[in-house]
Amino acid sequence: MSSKPYKIWFNGEFVPWDEASVHVLTHTLHYGLAVFEGIRAYKCGDNRSAVFRLPEHIDRLYASAHIATIKIPYSKEETHDAILDLLTINDLEEAYIRPIAFIGGGKVGLHPGDNPISLAISAYPWGTYLGEGALSKGISAKISSFTRMGVNSFMTKAKVSGNYANSVLAKLEATSLGFDEAILLDTEGYVAEGTGENIFIIRNGVLKTPPLTSVLEGITRDSVIQIARDEGIELETERFTRDELYIADEAFFTGTAAEITPIRDVDKRVIGKGKPGPITKRLQSRFFDIVEGRDPKFTEWLEFFPVVSTLRVKNESL
Ligand code: PMP
Repeated sequence: MSSKPYKIWFNGEFVPWDEASVHVLTHTLHYGLAVFEGIRAYKCGDNRSAVFRLPEHIDRLYASAHIATIKIPYSKEETHDAILDLLTINDLEEAYIRPIAFIGGGKVGLHPGDNPISLAISAYPWGTYLGEGALSKGISAKISSFTRMGVNSFMTKAKVSGNYANSVLAKLEATSLGFDEAILLDTEGYVAEGTGENIFIIRNGVLKTPPLTSVLEGITRDSVIQIARDEGIELETERFTRDELYIADEAFFTGTAAEITPIRDVDKRVIGKGKPGPITKRLQSRFFDIVEGRDPKFTEWLEFFPVVSTLRVKNESL
């Protein structure tokens, strides 16, 4: 990781970016049992920024930890405050925030025994996840040759690090073949989700997304469902097949990193008109109005925090 001028919150301390490192015998590094989150903070006009759905992300972090039997040695409130302090200390108006709870060194065998649990939180600016033009023009996707993990092999409701070996392999395969993203099918062959995104299709005006069986309970997915209800768009949470995806009028991914990214084509089959469709655009523009603080209806999803640079300018002018 290249050096950055930001501090990382590491077990209660703010440490310089380059010093937030771990030992090679860290249990998690070998066996992949850690839990993490991806959260975004947006600039909401002049002098204010907000974290999007922070309590929901913290709840999911602790739910993942519960599933993974990792006891995070900090309370939800402490984690919440650490995230806000980190943004302020790092002077970040917009950020991607990555908390991770992992099992440290000690026993090298599979049973982690009483190896210490660490919590580290990083935050740094991060633009559009799926590349330049992804949000406005859409991306190309490929049905992966890798299946989304079965519900009794991996804990699919948890953001466990090891689960993402599946996603990384699918991502590498898709991008090496010239696609932007992979879509994984579930063990029964129905469309599940992207490597780090939930998926939606629109056909004949009806929005459809797979149910929460083998897919992650996406917070952006939930936001889109609530926005669609508010917009009066009909919604079905129902399984669908890859050929139904091919003949959809519109399709898009949702995720904290991907936000709402239209899907232009899948396996070289153009989706609809091959550009973001009207319902996708409507949901996307409402989403950005909400996260950037322009929509009073959903302000309870925003947690505002002080932007230090602004405070500093004010203090200096006193
Ligand atoms: N599915 C997977 C596998 C993910 O990693 C993510 C990203 N957290 C999502 C879906 C989308 O979830 P969210 O909207 O909460 O970021």
